[in-house]
Amino acid sequence: MIRPVRILQLEEVEPRVLSMARAIAFEAGVSSNLSGAVHCEAYPSHSTSQFRADVLLTDCVSDVKHANQLSLVLTSRDLYVPSLSYVFGIAMRNLNACIVSCFRLGGNTEVFGARLAKEIIHEVGHLNGLRHCQDSSCVMSFSNTVAAVDRKKPKFCLRCTNEISSFPYDRDAGNVLVVQNASGFSNQLAQRGAYSSRPSPASTPPRVSD
Ligand SMILES: [Zn+2]
Ligand SMILES: [Zn+2]
Repeated sequence: MIRPVRILQLEEVEPRVLSMARAIAFEAGVSSNLSGAVHCEAYPSHSTSQFRADVLLTDCVSDVKHANQLSLVLTSRDLYVPSLSYVFGIAMRNLNACIVSCFRLGGNTEVFGARLAKEIIHEVGHLNGLRHCQDSSCVMSFSNTVAAVDRKKPKFCLRCTNEISSFPYDRDAGNVLVVQNASGFSNQLAQRGAYSSRPSPASTPPRVSD
């Protein structure tokens, strides 16, 4: 089964867009509930005005008490991780949490809602143990552009559906940082099977996939 997720908003998403995205995600088997606003003390990078995704996410969920529940943070801030110029979202399975940025997903309500839905489904898929899928129409396929996001469907392919249903509910996913939709480097990682062995930053030592 796909573990449900609670949505925390760092910046509020337009309600109609979020309702649409949640409805699409529900159709894909990802159920969600709204847990209101979340606050954090993270600062942007001085050089880019972007926020480091893993730092921001860690800060946002540091007070979260329900460690067994999946959390998804929504933000309008532009995100990056070291070596990657931007990311649409990341999942940190050691935190049972992911973050999705709306910064690059713009469009009218329908377009924005559909893109946001795919990012939500994708990151929740990672939190449920899925890696990237070679089926380009599958929501778990790697995307490094908005156009690529638009091309894929807002649902898991049969293979991913079968894989996700085979994971034990309380699986220990380990200390993994999963990055979605970045450019260059991460794309290569995706093609190689999703994991790198890059050295770890000080206190959160992630392996990285996109
Ligand atoms: Zn798939
Ligand atoms: Zn991904």
